[in-house]
Amino acid sequence: MKIFKFGGASVKDAASVKNITSILQSEGTENTVVVISAMGKITNAFEEVIDAYYNKAKDLSDKLAVIESFHKNIMNDLFDKNDEIYKEIEITLGELSWFLSRNTSQRYNYVYDQIICFGEILSTKIISAYLTKIGVENIWFDVRNYIKTDSNYRDAKVDWNLTQELISEKLDASKLNITQGFIAANDTENTTTLGREGSDYTAGIFAYCLDAENVTIWKDVPGVLNADPRVFSDTTLLEQISYEEAIEMAFYGASVIHPKTLQPLERKEIPLLVRSFINPKETGTKVTKGTRLVPYIPCFIVKKNQILVSISALDFSFMVENNISYIFKKLHDYQLKVNVIQNSAISFSVCIDNKFNNFDAFYKELKTEFKIDVQKGVDLYTVRHFDDKAIQSIQEKGSFLLTQVNKETMQIVLEAK
Ligand code: ADP
Ligand code: ASP
Ligand code: MG
Repeated sequence: MKIFKFGGASVKDAASVKNITSILQSEGTENTVVVISAMGKITNAFEEVIDAYYNKAKDLSDKLAVIESFHKNIMNDLFDKNDEIYKEIEITLGELSWFLSRNTSQRYNYVYDQIICFGEILSTKIISAYLTKIGVENIWFDVRNYIKTDSNYRDAKVDWNLTQELISEKLDASKLNITQGFIAANDTENTTTLGREGSDYTAGIFAYCLDAENVTIWKDVPGVLNADPRVFSDTTLLEQISYEEAIEMAFYGASVIHPKTLQPLERKEIPLLVRSFINPKETGTKVTKGTRLVPYIPCFIVKKNQILVSISALDFSFMVENNISYIFKKLHDYQLKVNVIQNSAISFSVCIDNKFNNFDAFYKELKTEFKIDVQKGVDLYTVRHFDDKAIQSIQEKGSFLLTQVNKETMQIVLEAK
């Protein structure tokens, strides 16, 4: 049993759909579960629909029309006018309209999941129909009948026992199965999601429950590189990474692998292969038990647009357990993700990711009790297995505001030049 995952970039237009179907034909069309994301940047387009719907904006129907014509254009290149798939997509879009007109809930996260899921439903229906059209037998299934979660919309937690039971009972492991990443359902059949970019994790869940031989995530890069190619011009392919090293890299923000993906694979020692859908003959990166890193070189992870905050008591008293724990509780309440912590006797510094835009409210609440210095728009560089040359290359990018070093990792908050 093999698990494949194709992300948005690999199915962004008709030519890409043809490309992944030829990958499937050459890699084998049996004993496989294929997990697929929404096409291109359609999840972002659905986020715009959700905001327009929630705010009763006038351009809601325009935003829906963009999504509809995006899919129809791809279909026009893949199918004949009278093919069954057109009706099926009409029905799916009808279900979305039905939800939009009937829903009365004001709960943003619930509404978000009920709408965002259509990206994955549309993409998998189109791809499954195209495979059938070119003679590749496959089974399409709705992943919401297999992966069950709690009701924590937008960041749902998997019910592993129930999911295991459903997958073992229902899935025909001998066939080519096509299903959705990212989405799932709770015990009342409402759609939930596993967090943005969560399709890699879906692949990990299937692999775990099916004791798969391996998981391949197909990307637009040759594999895991020692740095994000969007930020560094000179990168090297990592041929082999241990689970521990990959978990560390994903934790610090190497966005090529979703951080939750690796734990289930590590527990059953299922190899994760990261390969290029552009050059599918190449071997890419293997994440397995064993050698930490081949080649053993410094790896760079960058998080842009962070906030550096330095907090001290108004009366210059020491920053110790009681006020630090109070600050942490507030950070948690405002969903501010802390990426680096450093404290001295009278001040406590954190580098924060303001993902949910709650920082200003946090600041307003704390500034009555503490003295707070804020520097927005800073970059956080994490260097694993650093050496002098690696640090020098970061120095060229700007001035260091804070550094932290431990055995394997150096973290630098910097103000870019
Ligand atoms: P998917 O299509 O599966 O959603 P992503 O876009 O999430 O794929 O991940 C692939 C992207 O991750 C690459 O295009 C690359 O820009 C980025 N990336 C960041 N860090 C790395 C890294 N260390 N190695 C390879 N790619 C990286
Ligand atoms: N389509 C979802 C997203 O863009 C899930 C994924 O692609 O992994 O976040
Ligand atoms: Mg993605």
